[in-house]
Amino acid sequence: MTRSAFMTPSAPNRVWDVERIRKDFPALHQQVHGKPLVYLDNAATSQKPQAVIDALVAYYTFDNSNVHRGVHLLSERATEAYEGARARIQRHLNAASPREIVFIRQATEGINLVMASYGRRFVGAGDEIVISAIEHHANIVPWQMLCEEKGARLRVVPIDDRGDLLMEEYARLLGPRTKLVAITQVSNALGTVTPIKDIIGLAHQQDIPVLIDGAQAVPHQPVDVRDLDCDFYVFSGHKAYGPTGIGVLYGKEQWLERMPPFQGGGDMIKSVTFEKTIYNELPYKFEAGTPHIAGAIGLAAGLEYIAGLGLEQIRDYEHELLAYGTELLSAISRVRLIGTARHKGAVLSFVLDGVHAHDLGTILDQQGVAVRAGHHCAMPVMQRFGVPATARASMAFYNTRGEVETLAAAIERAREIFS
Ligand code: PLP
Repeated sequence: MTRSAFMTPSAPNRVWDVERIRKDFPALHQQVHGKPLVYLDNAATSQKPQAVIDALVAYYTFDNSNVHRGVHLLSERATEAYEGARARIQRHLNAASPREIVFIRQATEGINLVMASYGRRFVGAGDEIVISAIEHHANIVPWQMLCEEKGARLRVVPIDDRGDLLMEEYARLLGPRTKLVAITQVSNALGTVTPIKDIIGLAHQQDIPVLIDGAQAVPHQPVDVRDLDCDFYVFSGHKAYGPTGIGVLYGKEQWLERMPPFQGGGDMIKSVTFEKTIYNELPYKFEAGTPHIAGAIGLAAGLEYIAGLGLEQIRDYEHELLAYGTELLSAISRVRLIGTARHKGAVLSFVLDGVHAHDLGTILDQQGVAVRAGHHCAMPVMQRFGVPATARASMAFYNTRGEVETLAAAIERAREIFS
C-alpha cells in the first residue's frame, strides 16, 4: 500500500487520496524556515479548503448586506445564504429543527451562553455542576464563575493514568443536586474520546441535562445530536475547517424555549417599548446584534466539504495516522506519551525527557513541523500527569504518513541536540 492509498474500513473500496485532498488546502503548500510545512496543530485550528475561502470571497464580493431587516435584493440574498447555512448545519448535526441551531462566536461563547442563560435560571445555592478532569478551560471557568455567583458546587469526574474517565465515580457524583453535566466528547490535551452516550444516558436517568463540548469532535467524525440525545452541544467553526469567529450552539428546543436571552439588542426582539420588550422566537432570541454572516456561510461550506469526503472515512483515516504516530513516537527513547486512552482522537501529546516542551516545539518548528507546546488550556490535565506542559501533534485528514515520519525524525533531532 502506498502512503496515499489507505482504504478506510468504512469504505473498503474507496481509496483515501490524501495527495488530491491536500490540493484543496492552499496553506499546506508553503515552506517555513526553508522546509516544507508539516502542519500538526489542527486541534488549535484547522487549515481551510479552497471551497471555504471561495464562499467567503463570493459573499463579500456579491451578497454583502445585513440580514433579516433589509427589503432590498442584496439583503434578501444575504438572509437566504445565512439561513441556508443554518439549515445545512442542522442537517450536519441531525438536529430536529433550525430553531435549535444558534450561531455564536465559538465553543467558548456557547458554553458561556448556557452558563449565563440556563445557569442563572436553573441553578441555585447548594446545586451542583458536574464536569470532568480533562476539560478545556472553556468548560471549566464559566462553571466556576456560575458556582461562585450562585453558591453552587463544581464536581469533577476523575481520570485514570491513561486519561480515561472513571465512570463509576461519574455515576456516584450524579444526584438530586446535579443541575447540569458538561463534558467534552474528545479531549484536546490527551485525545481521550469519552463515552458520551453512557454519560448522557446515566444523567438522563435522573433527568439531568447534559452539555457536550464537541470542539474536537465535529472536525473528525459524524455527530448526530438526536442519536446522542444531548441537551446542548457546542463547537467552533475554525477547528472544523470554517472561519474564525463563528460557532454553533445546539440546544433542544424545550430547553432553549425555557431559557432567558443571553444578550439584549437588535434582532433578538419582536417588539420594544420602554415598558416592555417581547423577545423574538428561536433561535433569534439568542442572536442579538448583527451576526457573523460570512462566518456562518463559510462554516456551512466547511461542513459541506468534510461531509463530501465522508465523515466516517475521515475518522478511520485519522485513526490510522494516530496508530502510526503512536508506534513511531513510542519507539523514540526519552519520549513519553501523555494520554493513552482506549479510544482516542488523532492527538499525540508527549514530553521529551529533559527538554521543556517549548524548546522542543521551537526545534520542531525550525524543521518545518508545527505543533503546539504548552498546557493546551487544560492546566488541570497537566497537573494530573505531573508535567508543566506537553508538545502536542494533532492530526487532520490531510496529514500524511510521511508527515508523521517527519515529526518522528524531528523529535529524534531534538533529542540529539539536547543529549
Ligand atoms: N473545548 C475544547 C475541547 C477545545 O479543544 C477548545 C479549543 O481548543 C475549546 C473548547 C475552545 O474553543 P474556542 O477557543 O474556539 O472557543
